[in-house]
Amino acid sequence: MMLGSNRPDGLARPERRCIACDASEPIGPSEPIWPLGWQCAACGHVVADSNGIPIFTPDLAGTNSGFDPKLFDRLSKVEATFFWFVARNELIVGLANKFFPEARRFLEIGCGNGTVLGAMARSRQWERLVGSELQPAGLAHARQRLASDVEFVQMDARSIPCTGLFDLVGAFDVIEHIADDEGTLRGLHAAMQIGGGIILSVPQHPWLWSRADEVSHHQRRYRRGELEEKLLRNGFEVLFSSSFNALLFPLMVASRLMGERKGQADEIFYGFTLNRHVNDVFTSLLRAEIRMTLAGFSWPIGGSRIVVARRF
Ligand SMILES: [Zn+2]
Repeated sequence: MMLGSNRPDGLARPERRCIACDASEPIGPSEPIWPLGWQCAACGHVVADSNGIPIFTPDLAGTNSGFDPKLFDRLSKVEATFFWFVARNELIVGLANKFFPEARRFLEIGCGNGTVLGAMARSRQWERLVGSELQPAGLAHARQRLASDVEFVQMDARSIPCTGLFDLVGAFDVIEHIADDEGTLRGLHAAMQIGGGIILSVPQHPWLWSRADEVSHHQRRYRRGELEEKLLRNGFEVLFSSSFNALLFPLMVASRLMGERKGQADEIFYGFTLNRHVNDVFTSLLRAEIRMTLAGFSWPIGGSRIVVARRF
């Protein structure tokens, strides 16, 4: 890989990278990271696009390694109110504000229909907000919902077509879908500035593995310390780690013990049809939990783990 030339402040200059030949060129401050129809000056490779979204790995665009594209529509409606998504957004924005208040260039991989990007967009002024997905179906939804200055890209996060650019990246319940999760961490590392931040959430506790994980195409639930080890091995220093969804954890365990529902695509949503009052109570509980997390409390157990780290 070519090394970016350095700026006077010692940071690498942001560059876009050709995924065909690895050549790089500087990204101007006011131009898109990947202008539509961009052609590599070194090898002539032209980046394809679909409805204005650059497509870097068309061969992977149809694979269902994560989420059935048809479900994005329904998920959008659920995400706006369901306690787990509402609370998770508050936690992500809270951690970004606490650990990386100066960040101005954010990339989210596996952005789905853009719920987290929307919350991040509202939280501060950004120079660049970028969402990526393997599946263009999710990006089309995100495109409709978010401001036009948010950039979207279809790519494989193991080979991100830029270097030295982002000062904050995130993947929220994404890398458990990826067989090569460490390759993804290395891909993010290369696309980031030195000192930049990363926030990840993943499902944890392998003993909680259930049919819900299979329906969701999960590769794994993370062991205690597993994500932190993988971050350390791939050039990151861990700043904070906690369980998420700790207060409701006993309910989650009980629902797993009571047995699995029978096989329909709807299974992914079986937990998403709560009575409104129950949803309100759960939202309040998780908000209380998040206030303690943001104050520095690290919950030992919970359905998910959220880790904040910094790139060396
Ligand atoms: Zn090239």
